[in-house]
Formats: sequence, C-alpha cells, structure tokens
Amino acid sequence: MIPSAFAYERVQTVEQAVRALQANPGAKLLAGGHSLIPLMKMRLATPTRLVDISGIRELRGVWKKDDRLVIGALTTHREIATDRVVRTHLPALAEAASRVGDLQVRNRGTIGGNLAHADPSSDLPAVALAFDAVFDVLGPEGMQTVPIDGYFLGPLVTALPENSVITAVSLKLPPSGTRSTYVKYPHPASGYAVVGVAAAARVEPDGVIDFVRVAVTGAGDVPYRAQAVEDALLGQHVSDDLIREAAAHAADDGSISGDLFASEAYRRHLCSVYVERALRKVLSRG
Ligand SMILES: Cc1cc2nc3c(=O)[nH]c(=O)nc-3n(C[C@H](O)[C@H](O)[C@H](O)COP(=O)(O)OP(=O)(O)OC[C@H]3O[C@@H](n4cnc5c(N)ncnc54)[C@H](O)[C@@H]3O)c2cc1C
Repeated sequence: MIPSAFAYERVQTVEQAVRALQANPGAKLLAGGHSLIPLMKMRLATPTRLVDISGIRELRGVWKKDDRLVIGALTTHREIATDRVVRTHLPALAEAASRVGDLQVRNRGTIGGNLAHADPSSDLPAVALAFDAVFDVLGPEGMQTVPIDGYFLGPLVTALPENSVITAVSLKLPPSGTRSTYVKYPHPASGYAVVGVAAAARVEPDGVIDFVRVAVTGAGDVPYRAQAVEDALLGQHVSDDLIREAAAHAADDGSISGDLFASEAYRRHLCSVYVERALRKVLSRG
C-alpha cells in the first residue's frame, strides 16, 4: 500500500499546471486525491510527479451564467450538495453529490476530479449527461470547450485533451417547472453506484410530458443517456403504465456488464427498477 516514488509540486495558477504537465511526461494533476491516491497506493497508477492544483482559488465556486450553471472544477462534493443555487436550480446534482462516498470523501473530492477520473461507477457522470455538461479546459493550445457527448470513452478513459486542466463544468438548466432527481443502488461495501439514475421531467398542466432527461451510470463501462426511455415519454400523457413501459427500456442504450457482485442480467433489471423509481419521483403530480 505504498506508492512508488514521485516528485511533488504545488502550483498557484492553471497556466503553471499546464506548463508542469507539458514539461514532465508522466506527471498527473492532484485535486482532492480521493481517486488518484488510492490508485497510487495500489500501484495501479504510478505518476512520476504530482502537480497539486488544490490551492488554485479561482477554480472553486458555483454561479449561474445565462441558461447554464457553472461549477469550478475544484468545487467539492460537499460544497455542491449544500449550495443554495444548486439545490434550487439542479436538485439532481445536489442529490448526486450528497450520495458520493462518506463525509470525508465529500469534503475533499471535487467535481473536476470525479469527471476527469471517469470511474464507471461514479455518481456525477449521470447528472452531467442528463444536463448536457460542457467542460471548460485549458491546455497547451489555450482555452477550449469539450462537450459531454462522446467524452466518456471507457473505464477511466476520456476525450480530455492531453496535458490539459478542466477549469469548470457547466450544466444546462432545464426549463422552469422541471423536477429532477438522482437515485442509486449503492454497492454495499464501497458505496459506489451499482446503478445510478439521474432523471428530470416537466409535465404540462394537461398532463403531457414536454421535457424529459434520463441518464444511467454504474451499469456498464461508460455512463449513457437512456434515449429510448426519453423517446417513450416525450409528448405522452403521464400514467402509471407509461412510466412502467418506458422504464422497461432503461438498458436499451447502454452496454451493460456484469461482475462478481452483479451479473449483467441483474444490472439490467436494476436499471429498469431505478429508472422507474426516478421517473415516479419527477413525474408524480404531488
Ligand atoms: C472511500 C471512497 C469512496 C468513494 N465513493 C464514491 C462514490 O460513492 N461515488 C463517486 O462518484 N465517487 C466516489 N469516490 C471518488 C470521489 O468522488 C473522488 O473524490 C473523485 O472521483 C475524484 O475527485 P478528486 O478531486 O479526489 O480527484 P483526484 O483523485 O485528485 O484526481 C482524479 C483524477 O482526475 C485528474 N484530475 C483531477 N482534477 C482535474 C482537473 N481539474 N482537470 C483535469 N484532470 C483532473 C487527476 O489527475 C486524476 O487522474 C470515493 C472515493 C473514496 C476514497
């Protein structure tokens, strides 16, 4: 449980971080350390240098900009879970952040680290997909934006450009009157999502669903938008049968996999059960 030797450097700006990454092949950014350090202790990651960005103050905070909620990459899970703006405008994100690990993990772990790490069982990717997340990224070529669509390429593999730093993540705010939630079946030992579902929907006064988003994490190598569920719901009148029939398509868009804890068939079943639960929360008329 002792990592291999590495150099350590604490940077004060994002530009310094990019330069440090460029100058040191094999270097890795360190944010909250709650995914990277465990990997290093198991020697599944052996960076030659850690570039500690945790002191860059401008990477923290939550603010509204036009129709998006912008979250600094170093904002911790706890800050997100308790933030008034997040809780008001994107309750699903606050719920997901509040379900990450335990209090120590939520106090140190960051949204940027979580989405850069791309653990297939992480909670935040489902919310990021449901609300069209866009990453602000500084790299050797300057500032650029990276959309969430096509971002998750495999377990711990993303489309983030080399030697770059996520500075912020922005999520598109749904139309007013939308309800949203995040529900998960946590692994009993680790607390990570065996299946996690972010859902958002708006129902018109006549009972017709005019906005819906559903995304699933934990069920396979990469999280996914449950497009077939959304298609089954959009423009339809809410009813018990409709919700049940739509939830039956929960696994259609994913590449579902099994492991020692949960077989593929069981995970498919969990997808439907948890999508149905999430939909009942956001579509109930109460
Ligand atoms: C006991 C335990 C339980 C946990 N349970 C859960 C859980 O239930 N659900 C869940 O979702 N997660 C869980 N986690 C993981 C937790 O959410 C991590 O905090 C998070 O995944 C990584 O964030 P971090 O800030 O700690 O990143 P770090 O560990 O510092 O970094 C992770 C990776 O991201 C890179 N990185 C970090 N910041 C940036 C950036 N700004 N730009 C580009 N790359 C960056 C690093 O180089 C590294 O490769 C758990 C962790 C622990 C230790």
